[in-house]
Amino acid sequence: MTGLRSREIHLASRPDGAPTAADFALVETDVRAPGDGEVVVRNTFLSVDPYMRGRMNDARSYVPAFAVGAVMDGGAVGEVLESHSPALSVGDTVTHTKGWREYATAGAAEFRRVDASIVPASQYLGALGTTGFSAWIGLVDVAQMKAGDVVFVSGAAGAVGSIAGQLARLRGASRVIGSAGSDEKVAHLLADLHFDGAFNYRSGPVPRQLRAAAPDGIDVYFDNVGGDHLEAAIGSLRTHGRAALCGAISQYNATSPTPGPHNMALVVTRRLTLRGFIILDHQARFADFLSEVAPWVASGSIVARETIVDGIENAPEAFMGLLRGDNTGKMLVRVGAS
Ligand code: NDP
Repeated sequence: MTGLRSREIHLASRPDGAPTAADFALVETDVRAPGDGEVVVRNTFLSVDPYMRGRMNDARSYVPAFAVGAVMDGGAVGEVLESHSPALSVGDTVTHTKGWREYATAGAAEFRRVDASIVPASQYLGALGTTGFSAWIGLVDVAQMKAGDVVFVSGAAGAVGSIAGQLARLRGASRVIGSAGSDEKVAHLLADLHFDGAFNYRSGPVPRQLRAAAPDGIDVYFDNVGGDHLEAAIGSLRTHGRAALCGAISQYNATSPTPGPHNMALVVTRRLTLRGFIILDHQARFADFLSEVAPWVASGSIVARETIVDGIENAPEAFMGLLRGDNTGKMLVRVGAS
């Protein structure tokens, strides 16, 4: 018995359209005492991610749906508080997938030790976690970006998009263009992340703004948004262009079928490749990703901005804010002293 109490967020009901506060419940429970081979971890940061919106639906997908009345799992980082395993020591910083709770008890194998002396621990949920890994896999393996390519990234001020755009520059793109949902985010892309061009998709039609930013077309599209952005990108892709389809956040709250791109015939005539991916399939490449990207993050060559919301009780609001675009860079919830 640890004697500790943990607050956690449960799914209270399945949303219809955009989630509301009523879809979540804050619940307090005893922290289970660790058995042989188990550890207790005190979380310091939780990750809120767009894919969680899909898990709130009762639908078959690549990850199981959240159960109503159960804790919402997800990425988290924390410190080992108690260890009954030789694999982890008290004080180790670890990442895991038992998020949306203050403490987690589980077998040591369910936690991955990370080096918090290179970058702050929270970065292992962002630039050096699934976020940065998705950006790297999408750009390098899926879109097969080459030096000299013109690259367009949607959702470019968000967690994955901001890393994808910076990686494209560091890997020799001739021009990197990003779209985002506010003038402040566009200014951030240009001034802080050194994008060559950027536009606010709320200021005018995406195809027109993309053509203005890349008059000679694009070679690679990193898609976080889907919908009008995907259609615009297909219209701007040059012959043999490649699109990595990472996400379609413009459609996650949709309550009826969304239209597909109207210009799919261009995929044939321009010999385009549109390829979706799920990061879980690419774990074998994680060490390659870290060896290239960790030095860039540690040195500041990659700017890894975070938007931090304090308190586990505010995790639902952080998540809803993420879907609305409240974040610049990675959206995180701080649940304890880090
Ligand atoms: P972000 O940090 O990018 O946050 C989501 C952003 O989406 C918001 O900040 C908002 O920015 C933007 N957004 C919300 N609604 C719309 C809309 N209607 N049109 C355009 N933009 C919108 O999240 P992540 O970086 O974590 O994820 C980015 C994408 O990558 C998501 O689609 C996610 O599902 C996907 N993903 C896929 C993975 C995979 O394995 N395939 C792994 C990880 C993420 P703004 O203010 O600019 O609108």
